[in-house]
Amino acid sequence: MRIIVLMKQVPDMEKVKFDREKGVIDRKSAGTEINPFDLNALEAAVQIKETRGAEVVAVCMGPPSAEVALKEAISRGADRGILLSDRKFGGSDVKATAYTLAAGIKAIGEYDLVFAGIQTVDGDTGQVGAEVAQFLDIPHIYFVEKIVEANEESVTVVTDIWDGVYVKKMKLPGLVTVTKDINSPRLPAFKDKMKSRKAVIPAWGMDELAEFLDETETGRKGSATMVKKIEVPKAVHRKGLLWRDNMDTALNEFMDILVDKKVIEVE
Ligand SMILES: Cc1cc2nc3c(=O)[nH]c(=O)nc-3n(C[C@H](O)[C@H](O)[C@H](O)COP(=O)(O)OP(=O)(O)OC[C@H]3O[C@@H](n4cnc5c(N)ncnc54)[C@H](O)[C@@H]3O)c2cc1C
Repeated sequence: MRIIVLMKQVPDMEKVKFDREKGVIDRKSAGTEINPFDLNALEAAVQIKETRGAEVVAVCMGPPSAEVALKEAISRGADRGILLSDRKFGGSDVKATAYTLAAGIKAIGEYDLVFAGIQTVDGDTGQVGAEVAQFLDIPHIYFVEKIVEANEESVTVVTDIWDGVYVKKMKLPGLVTVTKDINSPRLPAFKDKMKSRKAVIPAWGMDELAEFLDETETGRKGSATMVKKIEVPKAVHRKGLLWRDNMDTALNEFMDILVDKKVIEVE
């Protein structure tokens, strides 16, 4: 059984700053980490590997520096990592990202299950998983919070969406996106961390993916959308008001504010 895990390297959103002038994320202002949901996806894959045997391949599309994310994936139980990296992939929107990831998966060859996180903490569209499945022409299940069973033929999962808990069975190959509730990702052991540092991460670009990728469908060229500007809402500070002495005046003014803010209506 081969399981592919899609893992994105994201900026540390607790620390990252926004360049208000240019309207972009200042990626140099903070370190990077693996998108937290993708650690859950990896853990789910590694647990299947431990119970029934599987090869776990982590795949990341990003700049050359994203190879550290794949090394970390190896230290957490992935067997190998593949980086999809090429200047021509730069500026990809969701569609072009999903198309390129799907090309990378096709280039890997046979696979049974693809895992992705439900969303990222930077782009946060939550669309990549479904679109990858579409490009691969395989079924997918979203919002998975438990794997009941997985084998070469099918996967049985539990999803909790809207008002219902659903048990779903999907024929493989198929794609599953996971929520944070599915598991608690393990921490890498020191020796695995050290070992993963020596791992060689192949970087596949246009040449390696040529058989599966049309240049006009990736990067800026292949993108249907374009981010024109990112605006961070200005922080609104609380306005404090203090009334003293005259309670009638205080109440009247307070009521006027509530009416003005449409908190209450007075006939
Ligand atoms: C320079 C630059 C320019 C960009 N320009 C545009 C633009 O013009 N228009 C636009 O819409 N977007 C743009 N983007 C954002 C880009 O489209 C998103 O980073 C990408 O589509 C992933 O979307 P998301 O983060 O919302 O993923 P989600 O759909 O929220 O992610 C779901 C899951 O998909 C998988 N996944 C997502 N991305 C990757 C990845 N790179 N590698 C491996 N797995 C992944 C992970 O498992 C993740 O948990 C740009 C990004 C960069 C860096």
